[in-house]
Amino acid sequence: MKKKIVIVGGGSCALFLACQLDTKKYEVSIYEKNKTLGRKFLVAGGGGLNLTHSESSYNFIKKYSPHSFFKNSFSKFSNKNFINWLHKIGIETYVGSSGRVFPNKEKKPIDILNILINIIQQKKINIFKKHEWIGFDLTQSLLFKNHKNTFTVKSDYFIYCMGGATWRVTGSDGSWLKKFENIGIPTFPFEASNCAFKINWPTELINRIEGKALKNCSFKVGKISQLGEVVLTRFGIEGGGIYPLSGSIRKQIKAYKKAELIIDFKPNLSEDVLFKKLTTIKKTKNYSQQVLTLLNLNPTQLSLLKYYTSKEVFIMPNLLVKAIKNFKLELKETGPIDEAISSVGGIDLKILTPHFELKSFSNHFVIGEMLNYDAPTGGYLLQSCYTMSSYLSNYLNSQ
Ligand SMILES: Cc1cc2nc3c(=O)[nH]c(=O)nc-3n(C[C@H](O)[C@H](O)[C@H](O)COP(=O)(O)OP(=O)(O)OC[C@H]3O[C@@H](n4cnc5c(N)ncnc54)[C@H](O)[C@@H]3O)c2cc1C
Repeated sequence: MKKKIVIVGGGSCALFLACQLDTKKYEVSIYEKNKTLGRKFLVAGGGGLNLTHSESSYNFIKKYSPHSFFKNSFSKFSNKNFINWLHKIGIETYVGSSGRVFPNKEKKPIDILNILINIIQQKKINIFKKHEWIGFDLTQSLLFKNHKNTFTVKSDYFIYCMGGATWRVTGSDGSWLKKFENIGIPTFPFEASNCAFKINWPTELINRIEGKALKNCSFKVGKISQLGEVVLTRFGIEGGGIYPLSGSIRKQIKAYKKAELIIDFKPNLSEDVLFKKLTTIKKTKNYSQQVLTLLNLNPTQLSLLKYYTSKEVFIMPNLLVKAIKNFKLELKETGPIDEAISSVGGIDLKILTPHFELKSFSNHFVIGEMLNYDAPTGGYLLQSCYTMSSYLSNYLNSQ
C-alpha cells in the first residue's frame, strides 16, 4: 500500500512540491482553506511575475538572511535548476534588463498556475479545497474543518505550507502560529518585510511630492545599499530601492525607534565630478534651475534638497554635493504587515533538520514563508519556495 503525504496549504510551495512528488510511491493530498489554489501566487503575478533572478549562485545565496540554512538546498536546486524545470513543464522564461527572470509575455500568471494545477491533477493528487487546518490532534493526526464538519486526517507524512502573514485576503493569515507555539514549537512573531516605511513628511512638502518616484538612486541603511527606485507616498516611502533594506531598517527601528535612510541622488557621479559641475554655475537668480539642468536632477529631488537643506548649504558647491550624495531621511516604522510583499517571523529555523523536518516531530515538515527567513523581492521569494519544495520532494522520493 502507498504511504500517504498530506500537504497543508495550497500556495506556491505546495504547488511546486506536489508537482515533484512521486505519486507512484505516495498517495498525496492537498488541503487548502480557500476555494481555489495559489491565490498569493496570482497576486504575486499582479505586478509582473518575477519567478527568479539570473545572478550567480554565489551572489544569489547572499540575498537570503540567514543564508546558511538555504545553502545546502540551493546548491542542489538553484535558479538555473528552477528555470530548467519551468522550461520542462512548458513555461518559457526570459531575463529582463534587471537580471530578473519572468515568464514569456504570452503566459499570464493564471496560465502558469493552470499548468501547475494540470500537472497535479494528472498525477491524481487529491485536492481538498475549502478545507481548513485547525490544529493538531493528540493522536498524531491533524484536525480540519470544512463547511459541514470537523474531522481528523491521518497520514505518514505531513508537510506544512501555510505561508506567512501578509495579504490575508489570499488566505495566508499566519493564524497557524499560535497553534504551533502551543505544542512547544519555537516561533518568532511576524513582521513586515519588502514593505512601505513611515516618514513624518511635513504637509507642505508631501503635498508637492506625493506619488512621485525617485529613480536611479542608491539607497543605504547601515552597511547595506541598493540601486533602484522608490515612490514617495503620504505614508512614507516604498519600492524596489528600499525593499532589500527591510532587514536593516527593522533592526535600526528596533534599536533606536527610527532608521536613517541615506540616498545618493547621483550614484554614477563622484563628488569631484559633481563639484566641478557645480562650480561652473553662475550664482544668478535661476540658480536652482541651473542645478537641476546641469546635474540632470528631477524636480522631486530638487524639492527634497531645497526643503531639507538651508539656503547657505544649497549655494555652496562643496556642501550641496554632500547633500546630493548623502541625503538623509528618517524612517519611523514599517508599514502595515497586511500590505507587505512578505513577512519574516514564523518557525525558528534552528528546530529543523536540513530537509526541513521538525526535529521534535518526525515526519512533520515545514517549508516556505512559514519559516523565519528574509529575502528581497526580485524572484528570491518564489525561488526559495522552489528550492525548498524540490529538496524536500527529492528527499521523500528517495525514502
Ligand atoms: C503583492 C505580492 C507580490 C509578490 N511578487 C512576487 C514576485 O514577483 N516574485 C517572488 O518571488 N515572490 C513574490 N511574492 C511572494 C510570493 O508570492 C510568496 O513568497 C510565496 O507565495 C510564498 O509561498 P508559500 O507557499 O510559502 O505561501 P502562500 O503562497 O502564501 O500559500 C499559503 C497557502 O496556505 C493556505 N492556508 C493558510 N492557512 C491555512 C489553513 N489553516 N488551512 C489550510 N490552508 C491554509 C493559504 O490559503 C495559502 O493558499 C509576492 C507577494 C505579494 C503579496
